[in-house]
Amino acid sequence: MSQEIQETLVSGTLVPETKVSLIDIGANLLHRSFDRDRDQVIDHAAAAGVSPIIITGTSEESSRAALNYAQGRPGKLYATAGIHPHEARNFGQGSVKNLAALCTEGAIAAAIAVGECGLDYNRDFSPRDKQRECFEAQVRLASVKGLPLFLHQRDAFEDFRSILLKYHQHLGPVVVHCFTGSAEELSAWLELGCYIGITGWVCDERRGRHLLPLLKEIPADKLMLETDAPFLSPRTLQSGNSRNEPKNLGHIAAFIAGQLSKSPETLAAETTANARRFFSLPG
Ligand SMILES: [Zn+2]
Repeated sequence: MSQEIQETLVSGTLVPETKVSLIDIGANLLHRSFDRDRDQVIDHAAAAGVSPIIITGTSEESSRAALNYAQGRPGKLYATAGIHPHEARNFGQGSVKNLAALCTEGAIAAAIAVGECGLDYNRDFSPRDKQRECFEAQVRLASVKGLPLFLHQRDAFEDFRSILLKYHQHLGPVVVHCFTGSAEELSAWLELGCYIGITGWVCDERRGRHLLPLLKEIPADKLMLETDAPFLSPRTLQSGNSRNEPKNLGHIAAFIAGQLSKSPETLAAETTANARRFFSLPG
């Protein structure tokens, strides 16, 4: 080895790029757009350093399916169990009991968080009173089970906050997933001690620009990253593929790291540690 190469090795120039290790805290892997190649999608994510992946449960049925599927890849996949506000119209008598069963170790591994649940007055796919009933029942379930909460909120700030406040004292960790709100909303969630989930929405120059200055307001120990795949493909990624995948989380992390003037490695280490602590994951 020449003196010159040895010196560059020591200075680090020839050291292969550090592989960033990330946890995708929210991917809708049971979505039908992954039916053809779900296993491959997970392999591609792992090859890109994204592992484990937390599959988001959005209905009783999808939560059960997510847990069943996650069971096949222990340590690589986990799942949450919840009813999304869009699905709240189907919330009924047995729903809480069924969700509680999914949060308990049994025939299938237990969910590691309650959610996705919350309120969405933007699209109003379910009546608002039904959304509130469904949301509150799940917040109560999380407090009883001592599980983290994975929350969705759009255009429902006041009602959402008042339900959270009611149970706040009895809750474990809470994440406001896919945060896209205002500075006021961000400070309200941080005041309640919530974690903030950021997706590729932040890469959207049309509707994500207001989030850029807010990134700096999120304490390093409260930020977590997610793709929300197959939705929200980062617009800064020129893949020509409209389906978002967990493997794209590295791109989102690099984009956010740039905004925060941090190295992607530092951001990855911080957000991965947050996700491990939040979901009580091993490692
Ligand atoms: Zn959501």
